[in-house]
Amino acid sequence: MKKIYLDYAATTPVDKEVLKTMLPYFSHDFGNVMSIHGFGQTALEAVDSARNILANFLGCSLGEIIFTSGATESNNLAIKGVLRSYYSQKNRKLAKPHIIITKFEHHCVLDTSKGLEKDELAEITYLPVYKDGIVKVEDIKKVIKPNTILISVMYVNNEIGTVQPIKEIGKMINEIRKKKDGLEKFYPVFHTDATQAVNYFECDVEKLGVDMMSMSGHKIYGPKGIGALYVRNATPIKRIQDGGDQENRLRAGTHNVPGIVGLGKAIKLINSQLTTHNSQQILKLRNYLIKKVLKEIPKTYLNGSAEKRSPNNANFRFDNVEGEGLVLSLDMEGIAASTGSACSSGALEPSHVLLSLGLRHEQAHGSLRLTLGKDTTKQELDITIKKLKEIVARLRKISGGVLNEFKNN
Ligand code: PMP
Repeated sequence: MKKIYLDYAATTPVDKEVLKTMLPYFSHDFGNVMSIHGFGQTALEAVDSARNILANFLGCSLGEIIFTSGATESNNLAIKGVLRSYYSQKNRKLAKPHIIITKFEHHCVLDTSKGLEKDELAEITYLPVYKDGIVKVEDIKKVIKPNTILISVMYVNNEIGTVQPIKEIGKMINEIRKKKDGLEKFYPVFHTDATQAVNYFECDVEKLGVDMMSMSGHKIYGPKGIGALYVRNATPIKRIQDGGDQENRLRAGTHNVPGIVGLGKAIKLINSQLTTHNSQQILKLRNYLIKKVLKEIPKTYLNGSAEKRSPNNANFRFDNVEGEGLVLSLDMEGIAASTGSACSSGALEPSHVLLSLGLRHEQAHGSLRLTLGKDTTKQELDITIKKLKEIVARLRKISGGVLNEFKNN
């Protein structure tokens, strides 16, 4: 059975070109970037070259790119680093810092913020995202206070693919900051987690007006365990990990040279592979999938805005079906999909993202995420739709049967 992969938002395969570019840096050109001998310099050149590619892609300078181990680390550094810097400003009379995020950020932003709140280090505002899964700029503006040090809004949601108005938020924050003086004019710092956006959306940091941006290699046909954080010059941020002086003293630890090289190549491919053509193709296929699933399977809905969403994302809700059952049944047919629900401490918790849309628990449990990639074909989608239709009907029959039995007893 040929397997069908429809979980590109979870991770992507490493592009063959990316792998080829990385290979020499494992065993031949294995030097440590910080060494002054030839081996080190060869590695440094490779890292510099990748840094150049990222700087071009983001429209920033070389020193503004910090390589990390992935978006989880980038997001932790962005939030904790800004907070740490704020607390180190001993000459200022400090109010307890305030941070604004959305309710449906990835857990590495959400739980970092909750942790700071629990430790009473920061006050956090969690913004609503409404039925469409889109935050409102006015809502952010309303809750900004003199002690707001950071606003973090994800660019594209990883579960429902909805796109946030990053440019508009950036503009609004910059208007507020223009009226301030001294160190105050850097607050609130604006961070976006662009992990799911890099493949398809504008990432020029000037055009977006962001101060920090996180990304990850393995979502863009690069390797796992590598990512980056863009940090605008002069942003008040401190390192959160002690050790060596790497990455502008913001991220200690020996460089993951093959990973960095791979990330650079992956970004280069986004730039060079006629991305618009690529994403147009994916968009066409995704629209076909949504249309057919909604038409052919009764009592099925799309979670989140249909228009303002990533071209590769479809997230469905099926009445009277458990998402986990769907994913397992699809897997038995060789189709890899995903559900928003995560099994935590033995209890099946519905996804915080789906709940943030105002869905009831059972609705959130009946959801399925299908995410497309550059290798997805129409034939694969046709097989998936056919199987999905059969599986939903079967699972509904079982749950209907159980309900009837329940009623009769
Ligand atoms: N943010 C978002 C939006 C993500 O989708 C992910 C990965 N699921 C992460 C952060 C974490 O990325 P990484 O795996 O690189 O730590």
